[in-house]
Amino acid sequence: MIPSILPTYSRAPLEFTKGEGSWLMTADGRRFLDLGAGIAVNALGHAHPALVKALTDQAGKLWHVSNLYQIPQQQALADKLVDATFADTVFFTNSGTESCELAVKMARKFWYEKGDPDRVEIITFSGAFHGRSTAAIAAAGSEKMTKGFGPLMPGFTHLDWGDHDALRAALTDRTAAVLIEPVQGEGGIRALPDQCLKGLRELCDETGALLILDEVQCGMGRTGKLFAHEWAGVTPDIMMVAKGIGGGFPLGAVLATEQAASGMTAGTHGSTYGGNPLACAVGCAVMDHVADPGFLAHVNQVAGQLRQGLEGLIASHPDVFEEVRGAGLMLGIKCKAPNADIVQAGYDAQVITVPAADNVIRLLPPLTLSADEVTEALARLDRAATQASNG
Ligand SMILES: *Cc1c(COP(=O)(O)O)cnc(C)c1O
Repeated sequence: MIPSILPTYSRAPLEFTKGEGSWLMTADGRRFLDLGAGIAVNALGHAHPALVKALTDQAGKLWHVSNLYQIPQQQALADKLVDATFADTVFFTNSGTESCELAVKMARKFWYEKGDPDRVEIITFSGAFHGRSTAAIAAAGSEKMTKGFGPLMPGFTHLDWGDHDALRAALTDRTAAVLIEPVQGEGGIRALPDQCLKGLRELCDETGALLILDEVQCGMGRTGKLFAHEWAGVTPDIMMVAKGIGGGFPLGAVLATEQAASGMTAGTHGSTYGGNPLACAVGCAVMDHVADPGFLAHVNQVAGQLRQGLEGLIASHPDVFEEVRGAGLMLGIKCKAPNADIVQAGYDAQVITVPAADNVIRLLPPLTLSADEVTEALARLDRAATQASNG
């Protein structure tokens, strides 16, 4: 008999009843160090007092109106994002998938309004993940995500990650946009070198194609800059955001330049919930913390400590681990033992990690992780590795 929850996930038999900072508690009193943060969502950890206050204060006043009316919390968050980034304008969504939908629509509408309606093609890369809608799975293109869901939305060209010559050849006068994650998440924590992102920006400038960055996982302070592309010193035309921006409350956004957004006039897009008062009240509180240079300095410091510790961990478990990669607090450990076994051994050692493609385990802790918690994380991962290697 089918379970009452549609069985699209194979869930661990873990049930958490309370969260506090970097820790998750079970009803029977076990404490887990959370290096997953709900897959890079709980940027400020669990039950952060500022977020609890923002949410409960707003909850006592007004939950929802509609985008038919002015929403001051949404205006405030849009202004904060525009002030802190390349963007001139923001549309709020409820998820990364919805941000992908709008990014694709915006890029195509841009060319349509420019009198080039055949310029619809969007270039994407192997190992990409942009969400689970029909457009987002067509964008990623992997068999794992698309099989059985055809016919797929046309207009996506899939290239191998890192194949510069193929990219140059694929950029034509039918290319509307290039869509890429600066650091691939689900694909196994693969960071695009700064030089490649710079080169990609130049190629887009030469051909006119728009550059869409998917910073759903790597954005909002995760790599130690507010957004990952800042490391390369270039800016996109359109950027997808979600996950960390709501700190655990469902919220996403599409940020764009005035030029790239110029096709999106009244009536061309909408959302019932997108940017509602509750989500944006929380989003403002998240932004106030994460955009603070002192906060980002903390992320970089703790990330350096964690990465150095992981190098040592890998050296002492060469049969289990291969290498560490990624940026900031978006780290992946490429494993030799099956990654699922190591995630399981982690549960036994009461530390939470998240599997990814390419036999990688991901470490995406709350950005508020402390130096002491890094030490504790390394000790628990060491126990997990010892257990995994003893079988
Ligand atoms: C998680 C993710 C998405 C999809 O976000 P949802 O909120 O699950 O719809 C898109 N792109 C990237 C890079 C992601 O990590």
